[in-house]
Amino acid sequence: MATDPRSPTVAVGLQGSCCSGCAVTAYPAEEACPRCGGPAEPAVLQGTGRLWTWTVQRYAPKSPPYQAPPGGFVPFALGYVELVEGVRVAAVLEVDDLDDVRIGMPLTVTAGHGVPRARLTTTGEEGS
Ligand SMILES: [Zn+2]
Repeated sequence: MATDPRSPTVAVGLQGSCCSGCAVTAYPAEEACPRCGGPAEPAVLQGTGRLWTWTVQRYAPKSPPYQAPPGGFVPFALGYVELVEGVRVAAVLEVDDLDDVRIGMPLTVTAGHGVPRARLTTTGEEGS
């Protein structure tokens, strides 16, 4: 578990991998580079990026990896976030209102139980 002292709200880093040959980043971590097949080293991803595309999940997904909340399933937004490292990560979008979701909105992805979570990037994190 990686903690960054500069951003105390980010408790869990995204454990990905980075190719030692062509520098392609992968998430989740892979032992071999998805592009060139070369050896990949573990890398903690920054987790900041922008929403690439998204949809609303209106029925309970397959479990695992989905874990229903204690109160039961409620529809939620699921999207792909294109990270600054260039890899797209599927994540649950933690937004107050689904009408606020926009493609290209700045998001920060953190690993959690089950699938990663994405929330709006706060000003302090942007560009870091
Ligand atoms: Zn590679």
